[in-house]
Amino acid sequence: MSPNKSSGPATSEPFDVDFERLEEVIPRYDASGPRYTSYPTAPSWNDDFGVEDYRSALQRTAERTSSEVALYAHVPFCRSLCHFCACNRVITRKEELPKRYLEIIDKEIRAVRESIPSNPTTSQLHWGGGTPTHLSPDQIQTLFRSMTDAFPLSEGAEVSIEVDPRVTTQDQINTLADCGFNRISMGVQDLDEKVQEAIHRIQPLEQTLFIADAARKRGMESVNLDLIYGLPFQTVDSFSNTLDKVLDVSPDRIALYAYAHVAWKAKQQRSFDEKDLPDPTTRLRIMLMAIKRFIDAGYIYIGMDHFARPDDELCIARNERSLRRNFMGYTTQSGVDLLGFGPSAISELHDSYIQSSRDLPDWEARVEDTGFATMRGHLLSDDDQRRRWIIANLFCHGELRSEDYEARFGGNFSSLYADELTRLEPMLADELIAIEPNGSITLTSVGRLLVRNVAMTFDAYLAEQQKSSQQLFSKTI
Ligand code: SF4
Repeated sequence: MSPNKSSGPATSEPFDVDFERLEEVIPRYDASGPRYTSYPTAPSWNDDFGVEDYRSALQRTAERTSSEVALYAHVPFCRSLCHFCACNRVITRKEELPKRYLEIIDKEIRAVRESIPSNPTTSQLHWGGGTPTHLSPDQIQTLFRSMTDAFPLSEGAEVSIEVDPRVTTQDQINTLADCGFNRISMGVQDLDEKVQEAIHRIQPLEQTLFIADAARKRGMESVNLDLIYGLPFQTVDSFSNTLDKVLDVSPDRIALYAYAHVAWKAKQQRSFDEKDLPDPTTRLRIMLMAIKRFIDAGYIYIGMDHFARPDDELCIARNERSLRRNFMGYTTQSGVDLLGFGPSAISELHDSYIQSSRDLPDWEARVEDTGFATMRGHLLSDDDQRRRWIIANLFCHGELRSEDYEARFGGNFSSLYADELTRLEPMLADELIAIEPNGSITLTSVGRLLVRNVAMTFDAYLAEQQKSSQQLFSKTI
């Protein structure tokens, strides 16, 4: 192994990367593209998809599957605005808003529950935002009861929450642990003071340490930290200093996201002077340095921004080819339908995507009216389902076995996707992928970092979306 190569521990396949080669290859693939938390991606969903379509999809799902569901609640409130943020959030300190939100989301949960003729339990529950710990301990209990009274937790359920260490208290951690939350995820982003000032998020390391420690003491199994590269004033050295401190926290999982500069739609990002953002080469070097540091520290690259300790269930699931991915991220829960609640929440059923209104007052009014706030959705065609399966295999397993495709869907993979295989040839030449004579595709370590670009080849909607005058997706690097 050359000195600039690293490999992960033996519990997963090696993640051998020649970092010098990576620095040469990656800029050729620095395009805009989807993150593929869904296929088709949201810009191709249909605004005519309404409440009755959602109800029918729930009926079909209950007839077809499964005794378990995954639940997501979007808690949109935050106390102050981080200037990099492109999430759907409401900045407020008013107490009436969360109070009313809890009444409305309870109605929404009940309406969905009443539309499902079976009695599913919950194998995965996640709260995101916004800031779920904007809710007081009593409010946390209220929301938790609304969800689990309707859909009781399965034995051993994965119960997770995103918390903001700046506003989270010991009382809230105690309440979460008492409810049964067993995983916690914290936004850290960057610990450099100059960067924190620029992004309007002052968060001393002590706050993160306190919450990590409190969660572990209360028996939570997993502590995840989120970081962002590409923020104003970041340099390779400054981010390396951040990583020294982050690795000292010993997180079980780390997510390293690229800052998505989408100032045309996220107005607060206009407060950044673009000259203060790291240039593309620096941004790339920060990313590569961080990946190398995580791998050298013993973390396994799960895929698409995510790293975990070798004994983490995500690593085990990846090794066993049972890893899945949904709107909440990578998960070990396979074949489970996802029901989303709250403004902008997305539900994913076996043949449909459904999204609720993003606007808090509109979401409230719609739920008051019908119990649902469906804003748009998509009924997957047969071709959509095939391509969704292909893209999920690339993201979760780093490969696509043509024999698995043919066993599941029929037909001859390499004939059906002859055009796509031809378009993959430059990636073959750049050693992002290997292709077998039968059309099976395996991503190399470099290719796993560029999985979005490989997946884009199989996206039947992308060419049309790219004609839009609006930039719809962030950069893939
Ligand atoms: S706390 Fe999270 S959701 Fe709220 S503004 Fe900051 S980054 Fe966005």
